[in-house]
Amino acid sequence: MITSERGLKSEYLKKVIEETSAKNCYEKEFIQALKEVLSSIEPVIIQNEEKYKSVALLERLVEPERTISFRVPWMDDNGNIQVNRGYRVQFNGSIGPYKGGLRFHPSVNQSIMKFLGFEQIFKNALTGRPIGGGKGGSDFDPKGKSDMEIMRFCQSFMNELQRHIGHDIDVPAGDIGVGGREIGYLFGQYRKIKNCYEAGVLTGKGLEYGGSLARKEATGYGLMYFMREMLKANNINLQGKTAIISGSGNVAIYACEKAQQLGVKVIAMSDSSGCILDENGIDISLIKEIKEVRRGRIYEYKNSVPSSIYLENNSDIPSIFTLKADIILPCATQNDIDIEAAKLLVQNGALAVGEGANMPCTNEAVSYFLEHNVLLAPGKAANAGGVATSALEMSQNSMRDAWTFDEVDKKLENIMVNIFRQCKEADEEYGLGNNYVAGANISAFKKIANAMIAQGII
Ligand code: NDP
Repeated sequence: MITSERGLKSEYLKKVIEETSAKNCYEKEFIQALKEVLSSIEPVIIQNEEKYKSVALLERLVEPERTISFRVPWMDDNGNIQVNRGYRVQFNGSIGPYKGGLRFHPSVNQSIMKFLGFEQIFKNALTGRPIGGGKGGSDFDPKGKSDMEIMRFCQSFMNELQRHIGHDIDVPAGDIGVGGREIGYLFGQYRKIKNCYEAGVLTGKGLEYGGSLARKEATGYGLMYFMREMLKANNINLQGKTAIISGSGNVAIYACEKAQQLGVKVIAMSDSSGCILDENGIDISLIKEIKEVRRGRIYEYKNSVPSSIYLENNSDIPSIFTLKADIILPCATQNDIDIEAAKLLVQNGALAVGEGANMPCTNEAVSYFLEHNVLLAPGKAANAGGVATSALEMSQNSMRDAWTFDEVDKKLENIMVNIFRQCKEADEEYGLGNNYVAGANISAFKKIANAMIAQGII
C-alpha cells in the first residue's frame, strides 16, 4: 500500500514532502508523483536518515537541476502566427545524460513536465543504462494540423531546444503526440543548425538515419514482458487471459501486438473519445491502419468490423474501464484510472494492472488495487522498455552499428526480466507483500542516492 504522508514515521520525509508541496503548490501532478515516490521509499530513508539529511539528499532530489521554458512561434497554413510554450526539464543527471521524451499535447504545463521528469529519473535508473532523467514538450496540439504545420512547429521548437541538448548532455525522444514524423523534423533542424551529424542527440529516429529496429515496439513489448514475469512469479499463466488497453497510440498498439503473441485475448482499445469492444479479439492490423496510417479515430474500427461495439466516453470513468477483463493495461495518459474506476475494475474481477502510460492510476487507485490483491506493474518499471531501447539506439549510434530486430528485442526482454527481478528483490527485502510499486521506487532510489552522494553537493 502507498503510505499516505500522514502515516509516515520519518520526520525528515514528512518535512521534505510538506515543504516541496508548499513550494510547488500549483503543480498538482508533480506533487502527486513526488508523494507516491517519497512515501514508498520510507524504509530506506529510516535506515539512512542521518546520512541523507547531512547532504540534503531529498531536498536536492526533488528540485530539477534545470527547468527551461521558451517561446515557440510558428506560422500556420493560413499565414497566421501562432505562439506556443516549450519546455525542457533536466531533472537529474547523476547517472548519465538527461534522457526522456517530448510531449506535444494541449494539456502540457510545467507541472506535467516536472512529474514526468521526476518519474523518468527512477525509470532510467531501473534500466541499468547510464541515463539521467529529463522530459520536455509543448502545449502545441498536433491534432488536425497539416504536415507542413507540424514541420514548421518542430523546426521552431528545435531552434531553441538545440542550445540545451547534445548526445552527452540531454537526449530527447518521443512521447504523446511525438512519433517518428516529429523526431525526423526535429533531427533535420538540429543537423542543419549544428552542421554536424550527431545521430545520438535524439532517439526514436527513422531506420534510414540512425534509428533502431524494435524501438517503435519497445514500450508496449516491454510492458508485456514485465507483465508475464510478474504473473509467473505469482503462479498465474498469461495465456488465455483477456485484456483491455486504454489508448491506441504507440504504447497501446505494441502492447496489444505482444499480448496477442503471448496468447492474451485483447477485447478493447480506446482513444480520448471512447472505446471499441470486439469480443472476437481486436484486429491489430486494422488499428494500425486507422491510427498509424490514416491518423483517424477509434470509432472507425466499427466501419470494418460491424460486430464490434463503440462506447463513447460519457461519464467520469472512461468507457473502457467499465468493461470486464483479467488484465488492465492503461496506455493513454496520467490519472486515467481514479478510485471509482479502480473500484469498478476490482468488482469486475481484474487480476492485474500494467501501467503502460506514466502515472495512469491515481495514488488512491494504486492503494485500492494493492489492498485488493490486484497485481500492479508500476509505470516507471513496466514501461521502461521504451527508454531502455532508446539507450540501445544510443549505443548503436556511438558504435556506428545497427543490430537486427531479434538482437534488440532479446536485449529488451532481458532488461525487462532484470527490472522485474529488481522490483521483486526490493519487495522481498523490505517485506512489502507483492508491492512492486514500492519495490521499483526503492530499487531505483538506492542507485540514484548513491550516485548523488558520491558526486558531492552539486
Ligand atoms: P501516442 O500519442 O502515440 O498515443 C496516446 C494515446 O493516448 C492516444 O490514443 C490518445 O488518444 C490517448 N490520449 C492522450 N491523451 C489523452 C487524454 N487526455 N485522455 C484520454 N486519452 C488520451 O502516445 P504514446 O503511446 O507514446 O504514450 C502513451 C503513454 O505512454 C503516455 O503516458 C506516455 O508518457 C507513456 N510512455 C510512452 C513511451 C513511448 O515510448 N512512446 C515510453 C514510456 C511511457 P487521442 O488520439 O484521442 O488523443
